[in-house]
Amino acid sequence: MQIFPIASSSDGNCTLVKTSTTSILIDCGIIYKQLKNLLSKEQLKLLDAVFVTHEHSDHIKGLNMLGKRFNTPVYINKQSYIARAHQFSNIDNRSLEAECEIQIKDLTITPFEVQHDTVNTFGFNITEEKGKVFCFITDTGNITKQNKSQMAEADVLLIECNYDEEMLRKYPGYPNYLKTRIAEFHLSNQQALDKLEEIGVETFDMIIPAHLSPRTNNPQLLWAELSKRFPGMIDKFILAPQTGPIRVRER
Ligand SMILES: [Zn+2]
Ligand SMILES: [Zn+2]
Repeated sequence: MQIFPIASSSDGNCTLVKTSTTSILIDCGIIYKQLKNLLSKEQLKLLDAVFVTHEHSDHIKGLNMLGKRFNTPVYINKQSYIARAHQFSNIDNRSLEAECEIQIKDLTITPFEVQHDTVNTFGFNITEEKGKVFCFITDTGNITKQNKSQMAEADVLLIECNYDEEMLRKYPGYPNYLKTRIAEFHLSNQQALDKLEEIGVETFDMIIPAHLSPRTNNPQLLWAELSKRFPGMIDKFILAPQTGPIRVRER
């Protein structure tokens, strides 16, 4: 399995997951032109499916145009579809429900619920046949007990580190109600790192901190925090986005 978190921030999210036979996108939150530049038309043509975590624009911005060009099947929850139906006129939508496994060639995708300010938002566990498990979890205010067990199953974890708690508190550009909303529905660096400590960083092959806010987070600051909390294990971390592929070692 190869993972390409090609866009990952509060401004746009899109991750390609590939095996030798299959390629899927998780979210399409960048405009089509940018997507084509980052992945090439050939790669887009090969896509087997897109999986949508939820309907916020940083996750769906390029979806309609992608659908128009390639008619790629889009797995999206009914509530998310209805909420933005006017923006989905060209997509071939398929059903997506929590805990209902979807098989795309050699990949099994299991959606699970997370806590966000939409009717439904999902994380995914993606298992390659005779291969590794990739857990994708962003846009959640909280890691529930169930989320924690989904994460613990994974060899590779992509986890939201949206904001640094002090940076958010001090940031002058947001009104208080927005700060409260962000804190309630997104994971801070501190929350994500606490959870990693509970599960044990050593249980993962690789951890990809993702969805960093360009305004209330800072990659250097997060990296310093990771080095301090997990000395000797920093090699396991790769920050998203990445222009090149992140190759998951085979069993
Ligand atoms: Zn969102
Ligand atoms: Zn988001």
